[in-house]
Amino acid sequence: MRKRMTILLAGLAPLAFLAQAADITNAMLENASKDTKNVLSFGMGSQGQRFSTLTQINTKTVGQLVPAWSFSFGGEKQRGQESQPVIANGKMFVTASYSRIFAIDLKTGNKLWKYEHRLPEAIMPCCDVVNRGAALYGNLVIFGTLDAQLVALDQNTGKIAWKEKVDDYAAGYSMTAAPLIAKGVLITGVSGGEFGIVGRVEGRNPLTGDLLWTRPTVEGHMGYRYDKDGKAIENGITGTVNKSWPGELWKTGGASTWMGGTYDPATGLAYFGTGNPAPWNSHLRPGDNLYSSSTIALDPETGQIKWAYQNTPNDSWDFDGANEFVTFDMNGKRYGGKADRNGFFYVIDAKTGHLQNAFPFVRKITWASGIDLKTGRPNFIAANRPGDPTTGDGKKGSTVFSAPAFLGAKNQMPMAYSPQTGLFYVPANEWGMEIWNEPITYKKGGAYLGAGFTIKPLNEDYIGALRAIDPKTGKIVWEDKNTAPLWGGVMTTAGGLVFYGTPEGYLKAVDARSGKELWKFQTGSGVVAPPVTWEDGGTQYVAVVSGWGGAVPLWGGEVAKKVNFLEQGGSVWVFKLATKI
Ligand code: CA
Repeated sequence: MRKRMTILLAGLAPLAFLAQAADITNAMLENASKDTKNVLSFGMGSQGQRFSTLTQINTKTVGQLVPAWSFSFGGEKQRGQESQPVIANGKMFVTASYSRIFAIDLKTGNKLWKYEHRLPEAIMPCCDVVNRGAALYGNLVIFGTLDAQLVALDQNTGKIAWKEKVDDYAAGYSMTAAPLIAKGVLITGVSGGEFGIVGRVEGRNPLTGDLLWTRPTVEGHMGYRYDKDGKAIENGITGTVNKSWPGELWKTGGASTWMGGTYDPATGLAYFGTGNPAPWNSHLRPGDNLYSSSTIALDPETGQIKWAYQNTPNDSWDFDGANEFVTFDMNGKRYGGKADRNGFFYVIDAKTGHLQNAFPFVRKITWASGIDLKTGRPNFIAANRPGDPTTGDGKKGSTVFSAPAFLGAKNQMPMAYSPQTGLFYVPANEWGMEIWNEPITYKKGGAYLGAGFTIKPLNEDYIGALRAIDPKTGKIVWEDKNTAPLWGGVMTTAGGLVFYGTPEGYLKAVDARSGKELWKFQTGSGVVAPPVTWEDGGTQYVAVVSGWGGAVPLWGGEVAKKVNFLEQGGSVWVFKLATKI
């Protein structure tokens, strides 16, 4: 009898263990923006609002915020840490530079497991060895790697459940964005727009990694669906061959989907921004070059494009429109807001793609005088487009001074939206560049720019500015300037707060209505990642990853020289109030 009991108990133990860890379901993910106990997705909900209903940390109490624990990513190599942690079942999952991921005990900060992806020597990330976060589904945590693979790990053990090669890193493909789950489909993009790759969005079964559909984002390419046996079935051409691209240029057309996407259960659509058309020299590719520098809305189950809006037709400045499309309610309708790298903030009907409004969110824009709300097209200023090298000495076209710089009025750092204030909180940068075009031909794995450039500051006292923007009026309600360019993301809470980090190392909390600084903490290295918040056992926590790096030190020209005193790092910090309220 005793022996039988033992066997029974031994049989039950694993079941009891499993019962503690709830599998992440599609229903949980669709309600993730309201789930205060977990952070189930990038964007704190797939809509990407980065708004929390938690109020324990608020404008009155935030001054008492102190560290609860900190965790180091270790390793000899550090570099940029752009990751947003995700949290479920008492565990934090945080990715780090060089395609690493850690599972951490949420209460203690103790390491549970780590996975270090073995990277080949020849990876070609354009903009540092970053990763922006993981996705959760079932009992898996899934992330993309710098050699363009997707890896799914068991949340409890860190063991590989499946691994899939997305594309050829030697051709310039890489992955840095957090995957998106929409309607139970794992949806990812690709990076590599500087190498003449072909941008695309893909849907997979998140539990197996099996490919369901692919949708290229360069007009002229065929999409595919895949049956149960993995057999490819044509899923329709994206647009029409040679309609917006001349000759063979579309075959290496860029439009990378490197920032990943958002998904709004209210519209049933997934939204992906697309990067620059390749090469940068626009004189080589007359036409609009669809769907580069655009926002596209897709059906998550089929990969069909439901609408597309192009922010910068025939982009000449590397104005990747990869920025996030964040859906919100305004005047009883569902819209999306997008702070584009080109300097304009777009308000677009989230169901139809109809442009409602577009206005500048930085003070100096040289490439266009505005956006025509009737046609949806920019009013280009022709004289400010870098010149055609074939009209001069054949080696270099005329140089223009352009603002924003190619690193953008906003880059990868995600903005936040507060339904409480009705404001977007946008991490903006004001800088310009000298840019010129050069001849270029495509070579697999080679940089495919056909342009040269030097980034320069526009102002003596600041480059970064966190801006509160009213999507109804297009007005900047307040701003909080920063010496270095802002490169971390933003979070806002029902406690009336906006949290954001700076390259100088601070995590800051400011009043969501006034921008008044209420609290800051020096994390020990630059913050280029977005904060998150959750509650556990009646206590509200805030976390942010610290570790200076990303595109600015690599590409920032004269600005890079101004920030070269900043030290690298790699850690996650967690905060709570010193005294329980
Ligand atoms: Ca680009």
